[in-house]
Amino acid sequence: MTIAFRGISHKFGNQTALSNVDLEVEDGEIVCILGPSGSGKSTLLRIAAGLEPVQQGAIFLGDQLLADVQTNPPPERRPIGLVFQDHVLFPHQTVAENIAFGLHNQSKALRDAMVKQQLASVDLADMAQRYPHTLSGGQQQRVALIRALATEPEVMLLDEPFASVDTPLRRKLREQARLTLKATGTATLMVTHDPEEAMDMADRILVLVDGVAVQLGTPEALWRSPKAAFVAQTIAGLQPLQGQVCGENIQTAFGAIPINRITNREDFLNGAGGGVKSTLQDSRTAELVEGANVTLGIRPHTLGLKPTNGPAVISDRRFLGQRYLTLVTLENEQIRVETAEHEALAIGTLVEINFASAEALIYS
Ligand code: ADP
Repeated sequence: MTIAFRGISHKFGNQTALSNVDLEVEDGEIVCILGPSGSGKSTLLRIAAGLEPVQQGAIFLGDQLLADVQTNPPPERRPIGLVFQDHVLFPHQTVAENIAFGLHNQSKALRDAMVKQQLASVDLADMAQRYPHTLSGGQQQRVALIRALATEPEVMLLDEPFASVDTPLRRKLREQARLTLKATGTATLMVTHDPEEAMDMADRILVLVDGVAVQLGTPEALWRSPKAAFVAQTIAGLQPLQGQVCGENIQTAFGAIPINRITNREDFLNGAGGGVKSTLQDSRTAELVEGANVTLGIRPHTLGLKPTNGPAVISDRRFLGQRYLTLVTLENEQIRVETAEHEALAIGTLVEINFASAEALIYS
């Protein structure tokens, strides 16, 4: 069932944790909430779960009101499954008992069969009689997820559910969780501070910065058209570079970038009334007029390197798998360039940056 947040604002004392957040998560959709630490991600989930009261706004399940300032059903009366990082399994119950906990309305025979089938679905059939502390972190997370799913919740809330699991297993767990949630058609809201995790799990990503929803969209949309500096840097991997408008180019310390390589240049061209405000919501007004200072965000894989007599030098190089990340330094400035393996140049090589195929956005 769709869960909708309408105009949710929240404060702790006089500190604002959420400002007027709107979000709808459809049946079978996975939305990740991404943002830096302290941006209000967990608070939004806790409000939906009934662990924090609604101070302003309302939450709906389908067209039914779930909670608002007057209505505040306790967590156990909400058709919502929770897997929180600190929401551990019952330690004195076996894995099977933990999962059966939510199935108390079923007959024992049916309950046993469901537990068995669900454990098998996450490759944990052998673990039924074990106690949680004898399981690895990843196994405990899988049990917590199926325990939450066993109650067939309308909505699933996951708060950094894989935080305690190491990287290779985390990827596998994400994949399994995504397939399971998709198969059950559950509307899912998952908090993460890890952009890679959000890209991997989400149908759409809601980006929160300081309690404000700065962008909501598919991973592709965020990658292609970041609307906030946080999205530009963390999701789109854009690196900031200062420049100045000079004729048909933007002059930077590393050379000139043709203005026609700037994908959002239209937003900054001076119209009849002067400059247009940036599409990056958190940026200042900027105009592409002669001499204007701008901050660009550049995609490292669209830059080229020409071995010449400088003026820049390759100061470091790292292998990323199929590509090299090369750090190019000129005086106090640095720029990252990603090149194909066969184009990799040695540390110490004097180079010039080739901006001919560069893809860049204007931040401000
Ligand atoms: P995130 O999950 O993005 O890290 P949180 O939702 O946990 O952020 O917190 C948002 C802001 O609200 C932070 O500044 C945090 O310190 C504050 N906060 C969260 N919970 C409480 C609380 N119970 N009491 C006071 N401040 C809180």
